[in-house]
Amino acid sequence: MVGYAEIVQELRRQAGKRPELADTVELHCEVLEAQASARIPSGGAALSDEEASERLERGRPLLSPESLSIDGQALGELCDRIGSLVAQRRADLAEAVAAIRAWFVDKRDQIETLAMGYLREGRVRDGVEAGLDGNLVGFIFNNAMRPFLRAQAQALASRVDDAAWYRARCPICGGEPDLAALERERGRRRLLCSRCDNEWVFQRIGCPFCGNDDPGKLAYYSSDDQVYRLSVCEQCRRYLKTIDLRQAHGERLLPAERVLTVAMDLAARESGYGDG
Ligand SMILES: [Zn+2]
Ligand SMILES: [Zn+2]
Repeated sequence: MVGYAEIVQELRRQAGKRPELADTVELHCEVLEAQASARIPSGGAALSDEEASERLERGRPLLSPESLSIDGQALGELCDRIGSLVAQRRADLAEAVAAIRAWFVDKRDQIETLAMGYLREGRVRDGVEAGLDGNLVGFIFNNAMRPFLRAQAQALASRVDDAAWYRARCPICGGEPDLAALERERGRRRLLCSRCDNEWVFQRIGCPFCGNDDPGKLAYYSSDDQVYRLSVCEQCRRYLKTIDLRQAHGERLLPAERVLTVAMDLAARESGYGDG
């Protein structure tokens, strides 16, 4: 799995060529540096080989919410740190972020329960129900959870056989993809987990969110240079950003591409497609 320092380096290199991305990239670099310095226990969830293959055969990701062991204090601190980074860079969000930080402080002793709920549902349901900005609380919590889940993905990835899994959700944590890549050699579609940064192979055609594979209800829009495409599904109204590595020059790091393609997220949302 690609390391934090490499992702930061790639982001800054690309932002040097694309000044319109400078602010977005700088915030993400600061978040990545906070993630890199978080205290993360090493080692994966205790899973025997038999348990691992049984889970995968039944279509279950390796990490169950119950088996997740997280240092609640470290997670709480990281939520607060990421909140402060967002508030510093985005004055327009400062008030909403202040409410979220105060809420996380209040929830300190329940943060492991929040983490389990997040793993199960992909969102911080209690925060949304408490009236917090759902996208923002999701961004902060997703990024605070990421180093813990990345560590699990690193420890567990060798247990997964891509060809045997071949499902729309992440085999490590059950997360949804937030980016896809078409591989250079064979054009296979690889998905990047929005939560743990694991990458896995999935069928080339079809919506990974709802399973729709009716060509009449799927479309994509390519960038002028054919490197990027935005795939949309008319059945569930969700979208997926894709990078075609056969068209791209040089090596591309998917966790960096996730950030470098923010304009595609905006365009998709403006056209009424959702990411969650
Ligand atoms: Zn994952
Ligand atoms: Zn769909």
